[in-house]
Amino acid sequence: MTPPSQRKRVLSGMRSTGKLHLGNYVGALQNWVGMQDTYECFFFIADWHALTTDYGDTSHVKQNSIEVLLDWLAAGLDPDRCTMFIQSHVPQHAELHLLLSMITPLGWLERVPTYKEQQENISGKDLSTYGFLGYPLLMSADIMMYKGDFVPVGEDQVPHVELTREIARRFNQFYEFRGKAVFPEPQSLLTPEPKLPGTDGRKMSKSYGNTIMLTDPEPVVRQKLKTMVTDPARVRRTDPGNPDVCPVGDLHKIFSSRETMAKVDAGCRSAGIGCIECKGWAADSLVQILNPMQQRRKKYEDNPRLAWDILEAGSERARAVASGTMNEVRAAMKMSLEYEAPSSAQGAK
Ligand code: SF4
Repeated sequence: MTPPSQRKRVLSGMRSTGKLHLGNYVGALQNWVGMQDTYECFFFIADWHALTTDYGDTSHVKQNSIEVLLDWLAAGLDPDRCTMFIQSHVPQHAELHLLLSMITPLGWLERVPTYKEQQENISGKDLSTYGFLGYPLLMSADIMMYKGDFVPVGEDQVPHVELTREIARRFNQFYEFRGKAVFPEPQSLLTPEPKLPGTDGRKMSKSYGNTIMLTDPEPVVRQKLKTMVTDPARVRRTDPGNPDVCPVGDLHKIFSSRETMAKVDAGCRSAGIGCIECKGWAADSLVQILNPMQQRRKKYEDNPRLAWDILEAGSERARAVASGTMNEVRAAMKMSLEYEAPSSAQGAK
Protein backbone atom coordinates (compact mmCIF):
# COMPACT_ATOMS: atom_id res chain seq x y z
CA MET A 1 0.00 0.00 0.00
CA THR A 2 1.40 3.43 -0.99
CA PRO A 3 1.20 6.01 1.84
CA PRO A 4 -1.59 8.50 0.99
CA SER A 5 0.80 11.49 0.88
CA GLN A 6 2.91 9.85 -1.84
CA ARG A 7 0.09 8.75 -4.09
CA LYS A 8 -0.23 9.96 -7.65
CA ARG A 9 -3.68 11.11 -8.68
CA VAL A 10 -5.87 9.09 -11.01
CA LEU A 11 -9.09 10.21 -12.66
CA SER A 12 -11.53 8.08 -14.58
CA GLY A 13 -15.23 7.99 -15.35
CA MET A 14 -18.08 5.91 -16.68
CA ARG A 15 -21.19 7.00 -18.51
CA SER A 16 -24.56 6.74 -16.82
CA THR A 17 -25.60 3.66 -18.71
CA GLY A 18 -27.52 1.89 -15.93
CA LYS A 19 -26.63 -1.51 -14.52
CA LEU A 20 -23.16 -2.76 -15.48
CA HIS A 21 -22.18 -6.04 -17.09
CA LEU A 22 -19.16 -8.29 -16.78
CA GLY A 23 -17.49 -6.47 -19.70
CA ASN A 24 -17.61 -3.19 -17.74
CA TYR A 25 -16.21 -5.05 -14.75
CA VAL A 26 -13.16 -6.64 -16.37
CA GLY A 27 -12.59 -3.69 -18.72
CA ALA A 28 -12.43 -1.00 -16.04
CA LEU A 29 -14.07 -1.52 -12.68
CA GLN A 30 -11.90 -4.40 -11.54
CA ASN A 31 -8.79 -2.29 -12.23
CA TRP A 32 -10.23 0.68 -10.38
CA VAL A 33 -10.91 -1.44 -7.31
CA GLY A 34 -7.26 -2.52 -7.34
CA MET A 35 -6.01 1.08 -7.62
CA GLN A 36 -7.63 2.43 -4.47
CA ASP A 37 -4.66 1.83 -2.19
CA THR A 38 -1.98 2.81 -4.69
CA TYR A 39 -3.35 6.05 -6.14
CA GLU A 40 -5.46 8.96 -5.01
CA CYS A 41 -8.51 8.03 -7.05
CA PHE A 42 -11.32 10.20 -8.38
CA PHE A 43 -14.02 8.21 -10.16
CA PHE A 44 -16.98 10.00 -11.66
CA ILE A 45 -20.32 9.09 -13.18
CA ALA A 46 -20.45 10.92 -16.48
CA ASP A 47 -24.10 11.88 -16.72
CA TRP A 48 -23.43 14.82 -19.04
CA HIS A 49 -21.57 12.47 -21.35
CA ALA A 50 -24.68 10.30 -21.51
CA LEU A 51 -26.50 13.31 -22.98
CA THR A 52 -24.11 13.58 -25.91
CA THR A 53 -25.82 10.61 -27.55
CA ASP A 54 -29.09 10.37 -25.56
CA TYR A 55 -30.23 13.95 -25.36
CA GLY A 56 -33.80 13.38 -26.56
CA ASP A 57 -35.05 11.45 -23.55
CA THR A 58 -33.30 12.25 -20.28
CA SER A 59 -35.85 10.56 -18.04
CA HIS A 60 -33.54 7.63 -17.18
CA VAL A 61 -30.25 9.45 -16.75
CA LYS A 62 -30.51 10.00 -12.99
CA GLN A 63 -31.67 6.48 -12.17
CA ASN A 64 -28.98 5.11 -14.49
CA SER A 65 -26.37 7.06 -12.53
CA ILE A 66 -27.56 5.45 -9.30
CA GLU A 67 -27.42 1.98 -10.84
CA VAL A 68 -23.83 2.59 -11.91
CA LEU A 69 -22.95 3.72 -8.41
CA LEU A 70 -24.59 0.64 -6.85
CA ASP A 71 -22.50 -1.59 -9.10
CA TRP A 72 -19.35 0.33 -8.22
CA LEU A 73 -20.04 -0.17 -4.53
CA ALA A 74 -20.94 -3.79 -5.15
CA ALA A 75 -17.67 -4.37 -6.97
CA GLY A 76 -15.67 -3.00 -4.06
CA LEU A 77 -15.10 0.72 -4.61
CA ASP A 78 -14.92 2.10 -1.11
CA PRO A 79 -15.87 5.70 -0.29
CA ASP A 80 -13.20 5.73 2.44
CA ARG A 81 -10.48 4.89 -0.11
CA CYS A 82 -11.57 6.80 -3.22
CA THR A 83 -13.72 9.74 -4.24
CA MET A 84 -16.84 8.86 -6.23
CA PHE A 85 -18.84 11.74 -7.63
CA ILE A 86 -21.32 12.69 -10.28
CA GLN A 87 -20.20 15.00 -13.07
CA SER A 88 -23.24 17.28 -13.17
CA HIS A 89 -22.88 18.01 -9.45
CA VAL A 90 -19.54 19.65 -10.12
CA PRO A 91 -20.60 22.47 -12.45
CA GLN A 92 -17.01 23.67 -12.74
CA HIS A 93 -16.59 20.94 -15.39
CA ALA A 94 -18.96 22.87 -17.65
CA GLU A 95 -17.12 26.13 -17.09
CA LEU A 96 -13.74 24.61 -17.88
CA HIS A 97 -15.21 22.90 -20.95
CA LEU A 98 -16.46 26.25 -22.19
CA LEU A 99 -13.15 28.02 -21.60
CA LEU A 100 -11.21 25.21 -23.27
CA SER A 101 -13.58 25.33 -26.24
CA MET A 102 -12.28 28.84 -26.94
CA ILE A 103 -8.74 27.60 -27.56
CA THR A 104 -9.41 24.21 -29.14
CA PRO A 105 -9.07 24.06 -32.93
CA LEU A 106 -12.06 22.35 -34.53
CA GLY A 107 -9.81 20.00 -36.48
CA TRP A 108 -8.48 18.47 -33.25
CA LEU A 109 -11.98 17.32 -32.35
CA GLU A 110 -12.95 16.20 -35.85
CA ARG A 111 -9.96 13.89 -36.05
CA VAL A 112 -10.68 12.01 -32.78
CA PRO A 113 -11.17 8.45 -34.12
CA THR A 114 -14.35 7.74 -32.14
CA TYR A 115 -16.09 10.82 -33.59
CA LYS A 116 -16.51 9.47 -37.11
CA GLU A 117 -16.76 5.84 -35.99
CA GLN A 118 -19.64 6.47 -33.63
CA GLN A 119 -21.44 8.78 -36.04
CA GLU A 120 -21.41 5.94 -38.56
CA ASN A 121 -22.20 3.14 -36.11
CA ILE A 122 -24.95 4.69 -33.99
CA SER A 123 -28.00 4.72 -36.20
CA GLY A 124 -31.34 6.36 -35.57
CA LYS A 125 -29.87 9.38 -33.74
CA ASP A 126 -28.84 12.74 -35.09
CA LEU A 127 -25.31 13.12 -33.79
CA SER A 128 -24.45 16.21 -35.80
CA THR A 129 -24.60 18.26 -32.62
CA TYR A 130 -22.01 20.46 -30.93
CA GLY A 131 -22.28 18.34 -27.78
CA PHE A 132 -21.30 15.18 -29.63
CA LEU A 133 -18.36 16.81 -31.40
CA GLY A 134 -17.27 18.41 -28.14
CA TYR A 135 -17.53 15.38 -25.88
CA PRO A 136 -13.78 14.55 -26.04
CA LEU A 137 -13.18 18.15 -24.95
CA LEU A 138 -15.56 17.71 -22.02
CA MET A 139 -13.58 14.61 -21.20
CA SER A 140 -10.37 16.68 -21.31
CA ALA A 141 -11.97 19.19 -18.94
CA ASP A 142 -12.94 16.31 -16.62
CA ILE A 143 -9.34 15.09 -16.52
CA MET A 144 -7.61 18.47 -16.35
CA MET A 145 -9.84 19.70 -13.54
CA TYR A 146 -8.18 17.27 -11.09
CA LYS A 147 -4.67 17.71 -12.51
CA GLY A 148 -4.52 13.93 -12.66
CA ASP A 149 -1.15 12.25 -13.14
CA PHE A 150 -2.72 9.21 -14.76
CA VAL A 151 -5.85 8.25 -16.62
CA PRO A 152 -6.52 4.50 -16.65
CA VAL A 153 -7.67 3.67 -20.17
CA GLY A 154 -7.97 0.86 -22.66
CA GLU A 155 -6.13 1.10 -25.99
CA ASP A 156 -9.08 2.76 -27.77
CA GLN A 157 -9.20 5.64 -25.27
CA VAL A 158 -5.54 6.62 -25.66
CA PRO A 159 -6.34 9.27 -28.34
CA HIS A 160 -8.57 11.05 -25.81
CA VAL A 161 -5.72 11.33 -23.33
CA GLU A 162 -3.43 12.50 -26.16
CA LEU A 163 -5.95 15.22 -27.01
CA THR A 164 -6.03 16.24 -23.34
CA ARG A 165 -2.24 16.54 -23.31
CA GLU A 166 -2.35 18.76 -26.41
CA ILE A 167 -5.06 20.97 -24.93
CA ALA A 168 -3.22 21.28 -21.61
CA ARG A 169 -0.08 22.27 -23.52
CA ARG A 170 -1.99 24.85 -25.56
CA PHE A 171 -3.62 26.34 -22.47
CA ASN A 172 -0.25 26.58 -20.73
CA GLN A 173 1.24 28.33 -23.77
CA PHE A 174 -1.40 31.05 -23.66
CA TYR A 175 -1.80 31.49 -19.93
CA GLU A 176 0.09 30.99 -16.68
CA PHE A 177 -0.70 31.31 -13.03
CA ARG A 178 1.91 33.08 -10.89
CA GLY A 179 4.57 32.31 -13.46
CA LYS A 180 3.75 28.61 -13.62
CA ALA A 181 1.83 26.29 -15.94
CA VAL A 182 -1.67 25.59 -14.63
CA PHE A 183 -2.09 22.10 -16.04
CA PRO A 184 0.18 19.05 -15.95
CA GLU A 185 0.06 16.75 -18.96
CA PRO A 186 -1.62 13.53 -17.82
CA GLN A 187 -0.31 10.13 -18.84
CA SER A 188 -2.36 7.18 -20.06
CA LEU A 189 -2.24 4.25 -17.69
CA LEU A 190 -2.90 1.33 -19.97
CA THR A 191 -5.02 -1.17 -18.12
CA PRO A 192 -5.33 -4.83 -19.08
CA GLU A 193 -8.41 -5.52 -21.18
CA PRO A 194 -8.92 -9.27 -21.32
CA LYS A 195 -11.05 -10.48 -24.22
CA LEU A 196 -14.54 -10.90 -22.80
CA PRO A 197 -17.08 -12.25 -25.24
CA GLY A 198 -20.82 -11.98 -24.77
CA THR A 199 -23.10 -15.00 -24.93
CA ASP A 200 -23.18 -14.83 -28.75
CA GLY A 201 -19.39 -14.71 -29.02
CA ARG A 202 -19.24 -11.03 -30.04
CA LYS A 203 -17.82 -8.38 -27.72
CA MET A 204 -20.06 -8.09 -24.65
CA SER A 205 -22.27 -5.06 -25.12
CA LYS A 206 -25.77 -4.00 -24.11
CA SER A 207 -26.48 -3.02 -27.71
CA TYR A 208 -25.91 -6.65 -28.82
CA GLY A 209 -28.16 -8.06 -26.07
CA ASN A 210 -25.44 -10.58 -25.15
CA THR A 211 -24.49 -9.47 -21.66
CA ILE A 212 -24.14 -11.15 -18.31
CA MET A 213 -25.03 -8.45 -15.79
CA LEU A 214 -23.35 -8.04 -12.41
CA THR A 215 -26.86 -8.21 -10.95
CA ASP A 216 -27.96 -11.39 -12.75
CA PRO A 217 -29.14 -13.96 -10.17
CA GLU A 218 -27.53 -17.40 -10.26
CA PRO A 219 -30.32 -19.14 -12.27
CA VAL A 220 -30.12 -16.41 -14.93
CA VAL A 221 -26.32 -16.73 -15.15
CA ARG A 222 -26.64 -20.51 -15.54
CA GLN A 223 -29.34 -20.15 -18.19
CA LYS A 224 -27.31 -17.60 -20.16
CA LEU A 225 -24.26 -19.84 -20.04
CA LYS A 226 -26.31 -22.80 -21.28
CA THR A 227 -27.18 -20.97 -24.48
CA MET A 228 -23.71 -19.48 -24.97
CA VAL A 229 -21.99 -20.28 -28.27
CA THR A 230 -18.96 -22.59 -28.19
CA ASP A 231 -16.14 -23.66 -30.50
CA PRO A 232 -18.04 -24.02 -33.82
CA ALA A 233 -15.85 -27.01 -34.77
CA ARG A 234 -17.20 -28.99 -31.81
CA VAL A 235 -20.47 -30.17 -33.32
CA ARG A 236 -20.82 -33.57 -31.62
CA ARG A 237 -19.92 -34.56 -28.07
CA THR A 238 -17.19 -36.78 -29.48
CA ASP A 239 -15.53 -33.96 -31.49
CA PRO A 240 -12.47 -32.52 -29.75
CA GLY A 241 -12.64 -28.75 -29.23
CA ASN A 242 -10.30 -25.85 -28.61
CA PRO A 243 -10.84 -23.52 -25.62
CA ASP A 244 -8.70 -20.86 -27.36
CA VAL A 245 -11.39 -20.30 -29.98
CA CYS A 246 -14.37 -20.84 -27.68
CA PRO A 247 -16.10 -17.92 -25.91
CA VAL A 248 -16.74 -20.17 -22.88
CA GLY A 249 -13.00 -20.89 -22.84
CA ASP A 250 -12.40 -17.12 -22.72
CA LEU A 251 -14.66 -16.84 -19.67
CA HIS A 252 -12.73 -19.64 -17.95
CA LYS A 253 -9.43 -17.88 -18.65
CA ILE A 254 -10.66 -14.76 -16.85
CA PHE A 255 -12.74 -16.15 -14.02
CA SER A 256 -11.79 -19.78 -13.33
CA SER A 257 -9.02 -21.15 -11.14
CA ARG A 258 -5.89 -22.63 -12.67
CA GLU A 259 -7.09 -26.13 -11.73
CA THR A 260 -10.44 -25.68 -13.47
CA MET A 261 -8.74 -24.18 -16.51
CA ALA A 262 -6.43 -27.22 -16.68
CA LYS A 263 -9.45 -29.56 -16.55
CA VAL A 264 -11.18 -27.55 -19.29
CA ASP A 265 -8.12 -27.50 -21.50
CA ALA A 266 -7.43 -31.23 -21.26
CA GLY A 267 -11.09 -32.28 -21.33
CA CYS A 268 -12.06 -30.10 -24.28
CA ARG A 269 -9.11 -31.00 -26.49
CA SER A 270 -9.61 -34.75 -25.86
CA ALA A 271 -13.43 -34.62 -25.98
CA GLY A 272 -13.24 -35.98 -22.43
CA ILE A 273 -15.84 -33.46 -21.24
CA GLY A 274 -19.01 -32.16 -22.82
CA CYS A 275 -19.80 -28.50 -23.35
CA ILE A 276 -22.70 -28.63 -20.89
CA GLU A 277 -20.38 -29.78 -18.10
CA CYS A 278 -17.78 -27.16 -19.08
CA LYS A 279 -20.39 -24.39 -19.09
CA GLY A 280 -21.52 -25.51 -15.63
CA TRP A 281 -17.98 -24.99 -14.33
CA ALA A 282 -17.85 -21.54 -15.98
CA ALA A 283 -21.15 -20.65 -14.32
CA ASP A 284 -19.73 -21.85 -10.94
CA SER A 285 -16.76 -19.50 -11.36
CA LEU A 286 -18.96 -16.55 -12.30
CA VAL A 287 -21.40 -17.11 -9.47
CA GLN A 288 -18.49 -17.20 -7.02
CA ILE A 289 -17.51 -13.70 -8.13
CA LEU A 290 -21.01 -12.28 -8.52
CA ASN A 291 -22.53 -13.54 -5.26
CA PRO A 292 -20.46 -11.38 -2.89
CA MET A 293 -21.01 -8.38 -5.18
CA GLN A 294 -24.76 -8.90 -5.12
CA GLN A 295 -24.72 -9.20 -1.34
CA ARG A 296 -22.82 -5.90 -1.04
CA ARG A 297 -25.23 -4.26 -3.53
CA LYS A 298 -28.26 -5.35 -1.54
CA LYS A 299 -27.30 -3.17 1.42
CA TYR A 300 -27.57 -0.09 -0.82
CA GLU A 301 -30.59 -1.31 -2.78
CA ASP A 302 -32.44 -1.63 0.52
CA ASN A 303 -31.38 1.88 1.49
CA PRO A 304 -30.66 3.92 -1.68
CA ARG A 305 -30.26 7.07 0.39
CA LEU A 306 -26.97 5.60 1.71
CA ALA A 307 -25.65 5.40 -1.82
CA TRP A 308 -26.85 8.88 -2.68
CA ASP A 309 -25.13 10.28 0.41
CA ILE A 310 -21.86 8.67 -0.70
CA LEU A 311 -22.23 10.34 -4.08
CA GLU A 312 -23.02 13.69 -2.52
CA ALA A 313 -20.07 13.53 -0.10
CA GLY A 314 -17.78 12.58 -3.01
CA SER A 315 -19.18 15.39 -5.15
CA GLU A 316 -18.47 17.84 -2.35
CA ARG A 317 -14.84 16.68 -2.18
CA ALA A 318 -14.60 16.94 -5.96
CA ARG A 319 -16.10 20.45 -5.95
CA ALA A 320 -13.46 21.59 -3.47
CA VAL A 321 -10.66 20.46 -5.80
CA ALA A 322 -12.46 21.81 -8.88
CA SER A 323 -13.00 25.15 -7.21
CA GLY A 324 -9.27 25.48 -6.53
CA THR A 325 -8.42 24.65 -10.14
CA MET A 326 -10.97 27.10 -11.51
CA ASN A 327 -9.63 29.89 -9.31
CA GLU A 328 -6.24 29.34 -10.93
CA VAL A 329 -7.74 29.08 -14.42
CA ARG A 330 -9.72 32.29 -14.07
CA ALA A 331 -6.75 34.13 -12.60
CA ALA A 332 -4.47 32.84 -15.38
CA MET A 333 -7.00 34.08 -17.96
CA LYS A 334 -7.27 37.44 -16.14
CA MET A 335 -10.91 36.72 -15.37
CA SER A 336 -10.84 36.19 -11.61
CA LEU A 337 -14.07 36.77 -9.72
CA GLU A 338 -12.40 39.14 -7.29
CA TYR A 339 -12.63 42.91 -7.39
CA GLU A 340 -9.57 44.52 -8.92
CA ALA A 341 -9.03 48.25 -8.85
CA PRO A 342 -8.65 49.75 -12.33
CA SER A 343 -5.00 50.08 -13.26
CA SER A 344 -3.67 53.65 -13.50
CA ALA A 345 -3.34 53.30 -17.28
CA GLN A 346 -7.02 52.32 -17.59
CA GLY A 347 -8.06 54.98 -15.06
CA ALA A 348 -6.35 57.67 -17.14
CA LYS A 349 -8.39 56.86 -20.23
S1 SF4 B 1 -15.73 -27.99 -23.79
FE1 SF4 B 1 -15.81 -25.90 -23.02
S2 SF4 B 1 -14.12 -24.84 -23.98
FE2 SF4 B 1 -14.48 -26.73 -25.14
S3 SF4 B 1 -15.85 -26.12 -26.80
FE3 SF4 B 1 -17.14 -26.87 -25.12
S4 SF4 B 1 -17.64 -25.07 -23.97
FE4 SF4 B 1 -15.92 -24.54 -25.27
